[in-house]
Amino acid sequence: MTVLSAELAFAGGRWVEGVEIRHEGGAIRSVKRVRGAGRGRILLPGLVNAHTHLELTWLDGLVKPAPFTEWASRLMEERAKLGPHDLEGSLRDGIGRSVAAGTAAVGDFAWLSQNDALRQSGLRAVSWREALGIAPGRAEDAARRALGFLEKKTSTWSPGLAPHAPYSCSGELYRRLFREARRARIPFATHLSELREELEYLRTGRGPFREMLDRLGRDAGSWSPPRRRPVAYLAALGVLGGATAAHANYLTAPDVALLRRFRSTVVWCPQTHAFFGHPAHPVKRLLNAGVPVALGTDSLGSSPTLDVRDEMRAAVGKGLPLNTVIRMATEFGARALGLRKSGRIAPGWAADFSVIGGGSPQEVLSGPVLDVIVAGRRLKS
Ligand SMILES: [Zn+2]
Repeated sequence: MTVLSAELAFAGGRWVEGVEIRHEGGAIRSVKRVRGAGRGRILLPGLVNAHTHLELTWLDGLVKPAPFTEWASRLMEERAKLGPHDLEGSLRDGIGRSVAAGTAAVGDFAWLSQNDALRQSGLRAVSWREALGIAPGRAEDAARRALGFLEKKTSTWSPGLAPHAPYSCSGELYRRLFREARRARIPFATHLSELREELEYLRTGRGPFREMLDRLGRDAGSWSPPRRRPVAYLAALGVLGGATAAHANYLTAPDVALLRRFRSTVVWCPQTHAFFGHPAHPVKRLLNAGVPVALGTDSLGSSPTLDVRDEMRAAVGKGLPLNTVIRMATEFGARALGLRKSGRIAPGWAADFSVIGGGSPQEVLSGPVLDVIVAGRRLKS
């Protein structure tokens, strides 16, 4: 049995002063109030970066803001120069930066890198294997490639499946991977309703995405636009249920209602949102409708840092209450990763904590990271 004490803890969705927590076997056994305990330490449920691409950490500051398809082309050019070892090193660098920033869990989209680094990192993690393929005739090959990366879950790591986005994957590919994710009981995620160009492409089959896909020789001509908005399209395909939707920047009221009905979780990436200059994110409408919204950094291709607290500061800067933002970065993040009994400080829940120096709630955003604990194990000290 290990004992953790703190001056202040965010336990069960509220602040508790003076706490002593006992944990064993990776789970919290008891939470007790003890006057004067743990001076100068704030205990949070483990902070979750619910959407990132750690293998792209080497992009740090390399790609400047531009319209999305230009940015994506630049990113692909840069990526083509890298070998597999560089990518693994980049992933490890991303893991190191995440832990240093106080992150306990990550939802990582992986395209080329192997699972090993995250699986062995001690972080709680989902490696969402990305798939790409707009041509319906290529769905089977694209699915098989992604499925080839699936490995057995561990106590802290799980594989997941992630068709990249509605503008880069056919409905056939979405359906195939959704079925596999359900069968294997692993999380399913996608980029969704992120871009104006995406809405146009799904409505008309034309625009910058069509031009980019043609340039890349992706046989986009064999794909018929669904003539729906992205969320309604995925709902009609039958792949929205329980899905984790990264970004969801452009939403109508019916889109929000669908996300609620299908119990999806949205991941908002405030710094990346600002990088691309999107209009205000519908985070408040989503939360009011009962859709959980988690926070993510996305990759260093569009975000200046991999620090979830930078995203939290940005969210508070947009007028969200601090306690709501903490729930987004912990409890809702855990939900985005499909974790059960994780994201709260309460008996029976996972012993995952981010420990920050300080003694008042405001210091959560400014205090130094003292410790990261996952399944009862210290990752940083
Ligand atoms: Zn992303």
